[in-house]
Amino acid sequence: MLEFINHSQVPLFGETDILVVGAGSAGCLAALAASHNQKYKVMLVERYGFPGGSSTQMLDTFYGFFTPGDATKKIVGGLPDSIVNDLYKTGDIFLRPNTYGAGTGVNYNPERLKLVWDQQILGAGIRFLLHTSLVDVSIEEAERTSCIFWNKSGFFKVKAKRVIDASGDADFCHLADFSYELAGESEPAQSMTTTFRMSNVNLDKFNQSGGKQMLNEKMKSAVGRGYPLPRKEGSVHEMCQKGCVSTVAVKVGNLSPFKAEELTQAEIEGRKQAFIYERFFREEVPGYEASNIIGLSHQIGVRETRRVYGETRLTKEDCLSGNMPLDRILLCGAPIEDHRKGKDGEDETFWQYIPDQGVYGVPYGTIVPKGSDRAWVVGRCFSATHDAHASCRSMAQTMSMGQAAGFAASLSLESDTAANKIDYTQLQELLNKAGAILEVPDEMADTGRDGWGSVFR
Ligand SMILES: Cc1cc2nc3c(=O)[nH]c(=O)nc-3n(C[C@H](O)[C@H](O)[C@H](O)COP(=O)(O)OP(=O)(O)OC[C@H]3O[C@@H](n4cnc5c(N)ncnc54)[C@H](O)[C@@H]3O)c2cc1C
Repeated sequence: MLEFINHSQVPLFGETDILVVGAGSAGCLAALAASHNQKYKVMLVERYGFPGGSSTQMLDTFYGFFTPGDATKKIVGGLPDSIVNDLYKTGDIFLRPNTYGAGTGVNYNPERLKLVWDQQILGAGIRFLLHTSLVDVSIEEAERTSCIFWNKSGFFKVKAKRVIDASGDADFCHLADFSYELAGESEPAQSMTTTFRMSNVNLDKFNQSGGKQMLNEKMKSAVGRGYPLPRKEGSVHEMCQKGCVSTVAVKVGNLSPFKAEELTQAEIEGRKQAFIYERFFREEVPGYEASNIIGLSHQIGVRETRRVYGETRLTKEDCLSGNMPLDRILLCGAPIEDHRKGKDGEDETFWQYIPDQGVYGVPYGTIVPKGSDRAWVVGRCFSATHDAHASCRSMAQTMSMGQAAGFAASLSLESDTAANKIDYTQLQELLNKAGAILEVPDEMADTGRDGWGSVFR
């Protein structure tokens, strides 16, 4: 709580049962799950003008629904499926098979996804506020948490019986004095990336000229030819929109996303790097001659900031041993994928796969801040060590965390139970009923069935 804000003097905007801070992939799912039984008033507050967080600010591929490797399995289900189903109805997804990295990706049209989030949120009767930022928290009252927000109308207060922190940066937990680790404190923080989209790419010509292999070779030797590319590999992939390609290759390290001056520097550097790639693509890569950047990410992509200390902490050993805790709320099969910038400024990306194409379970305690009776933390600020976080941060997993926290918050109200005392079997019942996957399926993913599982490109 900030000393200079007197909560009693700030006007009350409203009261709600469950408040979700941040409408990223984790927050949207948390709000949807919290309102599943239509019993509780749910409010979702977002600082930007559209929902989705990274899913719509900078990305176009959900990873984590499937395991990597040649025997791919679908390991995420429930409400996250309903988002993909809605995209599928309008032809706004296709699957991109990957045996490496986080497995087969679900590519989507990010502009359509904004609409899907809007419609799902409004359809569920959630009170939704955009362009509104959380600035302070008081947990002094026994039954309600007081959250102060700021928007163009000024400061106002919302009182909530339960709060889910889905701000990505754990802003709520920070202001409510829950403990956390700052990325970079014990190990180098993951680097930041401005993503960009290019249009008018002739993909037939690109593929006939050697496709990805040709591109990789050209990127490796580009520096010597006058293109200072920060990263010589990265994801360069076709989008839903014809002739459009999305690129995740910019790399900005050793700057703090919490210091406005350094973040400003990072944004400027990210844009500069993106246009170096544009010049390289146009001048060097067949098929790109007439292409241009048509969009930079809404803001530079920040992979990790605060990681809250929860009732349980996910560790590298949990991931690599395929640990299946009894109180698991979701599954993950993605490798540890750690993007760093070395001391000499060189690009370093480390990969560590879960042995035998394995899968691990994520325990409930990782979304409950230590000692919390009425708050949860989901998404990229959940409780994990640096390396475990580098595995468990794809959006199918952040959506699943949101799904679990939304159900847990409603269960906590219904049974008048503290967040850290919830009967996890009851939570798992709700998750199973919604279609979440908590047991590793025996079968490989049935990519031939009707629906979005068959839309390969
Ligand atoms: C460059 C990059 C590439 C990636 N590539 C992929 C990929 O291809 N596929 C994949 O699955 N994952 C990918 N990831 C990981 C994934 O995008 C994130 O881990 C995930 O999106 C995090 O979701 P979230 O909801 O926790 O956070 P966010 O998406 O960051 O959402 C947090 C939301 O809270 C809002 N917010 C923040 N502070 C406040 C406040 N004080 N008040 C109100 N609102 C607030 C933000 O505006 C935002 O909308 C990538 C990440 C990065 C950075």
